[in-house]
Amino acid sequence: MTIRERSSIEKNLAPLLPEAALHQVVDLLFRFQVDLVVTYPRSGRLGDYLYNTKNNRHRISININLNRYQFLITLLHEFAHLLVQERFKTEVRPHGKEWHAAFCEISMPFLRDDIFPLDVKAAFGAHLKSRYGSAYADKKLSKILERYNGIEQNRYKVELGTLPVSSKFFLSGRSFQCISRQGNVILCQELKTGTIYRMSSSVFVKPYL
Ligand SMILES: [Zn+2]
Repeated sequence: MTIRERSSIEKNLAPLLPEAALHQVVDLLFRFQVDLVVTYPRSGRLGDYLYNTKNNRHRISININLNRYQFLITLLHEFAHLLVQERFKTEVRPHGKEWHAAFCEISMPFLRDDIFPLDVKAAFGAHLKSRYGSAYADKKLSKILERYNGIEQNRYKVELGTLPVSSKFFLSGRSFQCISRQGNVILCQELKTGTIYRMSSSVFVKPYL
């Protein structure tokens, strides 16, 4: 990894994570050769992990609409699946005891006051001791995380006109794709409904990374 590669990854991830966690997360991504993809929001799932047997690389995807703390907790959850894959291949249950041990191991170094606010830290600590298969299922933790949705929602946005045609992006809770450009007007299709909209190239949107 060159210093340039590292700094460009840090720049992309900085708006998505608690600041004090950034270096450690980037270290993990490089150590395990992870392709991290930030993707459109999926219902019932905040992130997922996949082992690509074609190129022997790990792939983690995380929904784009998570706040910083949710993003980090989801990432650690998926990293625990990665550790299980490295150690046991697919021979163990997805959220079994091996996964839980890996989740605690990878998360403990992040359970700090400079990374999480006190209420999130306490709820995350309790979550690690519990046997919930996801932060989503742990209603207490997800309720506390929701408190930060407005304040700590990641603020990564760019002007629509700077995105290449066919890029996907997120705007006001909906997902779109750029179809074509006509001067300062961008034709965009809403992914869910297929409806075409004309948008100004100067509107700020959240691109999928
Ligand atoms: Zn999982």
